[in-house]
Order: sequence, then C-alpha cells, then structure tokens
Amino acid sequence: MSNLFEADIIIIGAGSAGAVLAERLSQDPAVRVILLEAGTQGSSWLNDTPAMTVRLIGNPATDWNYVAEPDPTLNGRALNWAAGKMLGGGSSINGLVYIRGLRRDYDDWAKLGCTGWGWDGVEAYFQRAEGYADDGHESLGNTGPYPLSRIRSVHPLTHKFVEACAQTGLETLPDYNNGDREGAFVNLTSQRNGRRASTANSYLALAAKRSNFSMVSGALVDKILFESGRASGVRARIGNEFVDIKARREVLLSAGTLQSPAILMRSGMGPAAELNRHGIAVQIDAPGVGRNLQEHLGMGIGKFVNVPTYNSEMDPFNGLRHLLNYTLFRRGPLASAAVQGMAWLRSDDRLEQPDIHLNFFPFGIDYSCSPPVLHKKPVVSIGACVSRPHGRGEIRLRSASPDDKPLINFHMYQDQRDFDTVVRSLKKIERIFQAPAFASSITGGTPPFDTAHTDAQLEQIIRNYTATGYHPVGTCRMGSDARSVVDTELRVRGVTGLRVIDASIIPQLISANTNAAAIMIGEKGADFVRRSWTNT
Ligand SMILES: Cc1cc2nc3c(=O)[nH]c(=O)nc-3n(C[C@H](O)[C@H](O)[C@H](O)COP(=O)(O)OP(=O)(O)OC[C@H]3O[C@@H](n4cnc5c(N)ncnc54)[C@H](O)[C@@H]3O)c2cc1C
Repeated sequence: MSNLFEADIIIIGAGSAGAVLAERLSQDPAVRVILLEAGTQGSSWLNDTPAMTVRLIGNPATDWNYVAEPDPTLNGRALNWAAGKMLGGGSSINGLVYIRGLRRDYDDWAKLGCTGWGWDGVEAYFQRAEGYADDGHESLGNTGPYPLSRIRSVHPLTHKFVEACAQTGLETLPDYNNGDREGAFVNLTSQRNGRRASTANSYLALAAKRSNFSMVSGALVDKILFESGRASGVRARIGNEFVDIKARREVLLSAGTLQSPAILMRSGMGPAAELNRHGIAVQIDAPGVGRNLQEHLGMGIGKFVNVPTYNSEMDPFNGLRHLLNYTLFRRGPLASAAVQGMAWLRSDDRLEQPDIHLNFFPFGIDYSCSPPVLHKKPVVSIGACVSRPHGRGEIRLRSASPDDKPLINFHMYQDQRDFDTVVRSLKKIERIFQAPAFASSITGGTPPFDTAHTDAQLEQIIRNYTATGYHPVGTCRMGSDARSVVDTELRVRGVTGLRVIDASIIPQLISANTNAAAIMIGEKGADFVRRSWTNT
C-alpha cells in the first residue's frame, strides 16, 4: 500500500456527472483536483462514430456488462444492464439522444422534499451545460461545453412517425426541451459535426489542460476512508497496487447508479445487516443506500416497410457507401443516433399527464434469433417506455471485494400498474402505425406481433421481450427526510466531506433518457461544492 497522492478534491468516476465536476472545480487554480476512473480512454473511432454505440455496448473494454439477477416477472430472464466503463462514462457509450425531461418531473422532485430542484431550480444548469449549434430550439443554451445539434441525416420515416403521431391527435413540438407538454418531435443529439460528444471530449478535455488537475484512468476505487467521521481520502487499485489518496477538502462520489451505492457500502455506509453479512465495519447504518432503484422498462413493435432502413443496408455494398459518406461528409446512418423521433403521450386518454414516452428507430431487430440480430429486410420500430414506473429494485453487495460487481435485483413487473401501462402503450403504438402517414410504407408486422394473439399470449410476449432502457437512477436518493441518502446539497447524511453527485441521487425517474439530467446534476453539484468553499 502506498500513499502517492494528495488533493483538495477527489472525484470518483469520470462519467456524465464526474467529468462536469472535474472541469468546473479545476477552474480555480488554487484547488488541486484528482479524478479516478476505473475505465480507460477507449478507441477513438468507435467512440467518435455515433452508430458505433452498437460496438461499445457489450464490449468488455467499454461496458461494465452488469447482469441483473433473474427476474421472475420476466419469466426468469436475467437482463444485461449496460453502463459505460471509460472516460465519459455513460455519455461515451450511450445512444446520443439529448432530452431534459418534463417540467413536472423536476417539480415533483421538489414536492418530494428536494427544495431547489424544481424546474425553475434546474433549468439554468441545463442551459449552462448546453452548446447547441443549430437553429430553433430556443430553450437550449448555446454557449456551454456540451455540443448538441440536430441529427444530420434524418431517415424519411422518422418524419412520417411525427406526422403519424399528429394524425392520432398529438401535437408536434418544435422545442421539446422547454419542459411544457406532451407531443412528438425529431430529437436532438449530443454531437458536433457528426462526431459523438461525450463529457470526456468536452468537459474533461478542458480540465486536462490545467496543471492543478490530474486524472488517473484504470483506477478501481475500493472504498472511501474516514477520520473522525470525515471523508479523508480514497483507497483505489491502480495497476496491481492499492493506493491511498488523501482528500484535504471533499470526496465526490460520481460512480453512477449501480456503483456509487456499492462504494458507499464497502466504505461502511449502508443497511447494517447487509454490511455485517460481508464483514464490513458499520460507519453509518443507512438503510436507504442501494434502495429505490428505478429503471425505464420498455417494449417495442417492429413493422416491415417498403423503403430501405438502416438494418437492411448493412450489406457490403451499402456498408461501404455509408462508410464513405461518413468519412467524407460525416453524414448518413453512421452519423445517426439510434433513436430519431420521440413522443410523450398518455397511455390512457383519461390521464391528466403523459405517462409513457415512445422512441422511433429507423431499423429493427429480429428477436426470433438467439442472440437477436438486425433484420435483413427493411424494418422500423417504435418502443414504449413507462416514463415513471412504480416498481422499485435494489443494489446489494455480492461480496466486500471491489472486483465483484454489485447484485442488481429488479422485478420489472412487480407492480401491476406498470404491466397494464405497457399493454396500453402497445395499443397506442399500433394506432400510430395505422395512421395514414405510414399507410403507403408498412407491409406487415414482425414477430412476435405478426400474428393475432390472445390476452394470455400477449402477457407472455411482454414478459419475454421487455428490456431495460439503460436509465437506472435512485440508489443514493436525495431528500430532506432522514432516510434519504443525501440532502438537497448532495451531502451524504451522517458524515462530513462526502457528496454523491450523479444519477443515483435522482429521487424519482424522469420521463426521459437520463444523460442530460446527470450532466445537470454535475453542474448544480459543482455549484454547491464551490459555494461551500466561500462559506468556510
Ligand atoms: C447503452 C446506454 C445507452 C444510453 N442512451 C442514452 C441516450 O441516448 N440519452 C440519454 O440521455 N441517456 C442515455 N443513457 C443514460 C445516460 O448515459 C446515463 O444516465 C448517464 O451517463 C449516467 O451518468 P452518471 O454520471 O450517473 O454515471 P456514469 O456516466 O455511468 O459514470 C460513472 C463512472 O464511474 C466509473 N466508475 C464506476 N465504478 C467505479 C469505481 N469503483 N472506481 C472508479 N470508477 C468507477 C464508471 O466507469 C463511469 O465512468 C444511456 C446509457 C447506456 C448505458
């Protein structure tokens, strides 16, 4: 064991939120910042090319490749939960959709006790991050470090999707990030000039130029160290050696929803019974750590169409054509986000607010194969997510070793209301596919929706095909109640000098993908840390 480093601030995890902290906090040259990241830089071509997300997910060099415990509500299936393991974390591996969520998502956080986190308390932090470069979308910021743009090559059927939504009564939203209401839209993407924008090539690239900032990749954090109830440092394995790093001011934990609670537990903060089971000395009995896990459960329908789609153009000739187009002009399917169109809507017209969101994909996956592969014939798909599911799961330790990935226990359909919402969503998707805008394009249904089914068969289809949305949140819940893990300035209850700043603090899942929210949390968290310096 050696004691190589010392810093004012130690950040654990260089992901969507952690990279933001690194840049914002190292702006002060008097503050020494060290960032520890378990992953590495990654291959630049795979990272830069938006469609190469498919090669990053499941790749042990870039993805933690978590596997959840078998889920009895999904007929015992054990789902893969991808999570970025590289500089930029989730922002380096994700589907590049940029979306903040709805005003009501954040206003509900405030109602749950997170004072200051309502829409009016978070909007300026979204804008601070955003560097939107194209026209329209007035609500977005234009001068922030995180590049955003329109999708450079929108598939023609994406526009048909938005038109079809309008024909079923949904509004078309020109500026969907203003938080206001339900409707359909062509989504924006986190990229610049057709290349992926991650928090690594935006925020971290800025921090890396500063002499008061150091980053250690390949550093697996084991635990946080304490002296008299104050977080005094971090123990990490770098190469084959365990190293203790001293923190003069604060330790900021940004290891994401699946790892931040595990690191807290290994450090002695968590449910006492769970810590005792693994022989970990209890620093604080914090029953909320690892609980409140939420995820977007989703299910989709594919349709065969009579125009080429991205999956049908993967043959050598078209593949080469698209590669050339991308290499020369940074356009075409390789520059595209997987999801091109989205919609917020009510699965039941009697509801007052949208409860589901739809994703339109200009390609389709053949689930009749094992493992599933891209369809050979042209297919488009619409997936539905239950925006704010009722079900809750938990993260527990497999052992006290940092090498053992945490246990993920999530029973997707533990709450019948979520299942019923999915049933209603599938009907909504079929209605959109039946709208006149799609009439001249669709030629038939894809399995398992190519034949009529009874209600009992539909139930089995849903249990056999539901997947995760890759948006886990909530395991270090923020709140003002004693059972919350962090307070509304993200300080861990019961100790000093330690905050959690990442998607794990989200008290209730938002009606959208979660990258923008994680970056906003990084921006707002950095302000809390800086403000505490001026108050001391
Ligand atoms: C496949 C996929 C597709 C997605 N698509 C979208 C999308 O299109 N749009 C969108 O808005 N959201 C999307 N998301 C979700 C979004 O990217 C995440 O919500 C967001 O990145 C979470 O940010 P975070 O800072 O909480 O955690 P992360 O970005 O996951 O950062 C955590 C970091 O901590 C590191 N770390 C973890 N444990 C340790 C340890 N013990 N020691 C050191 N380092 C550690 C990790 O390697 C990682 O770099 C997607 C996510 C995935 C996985």
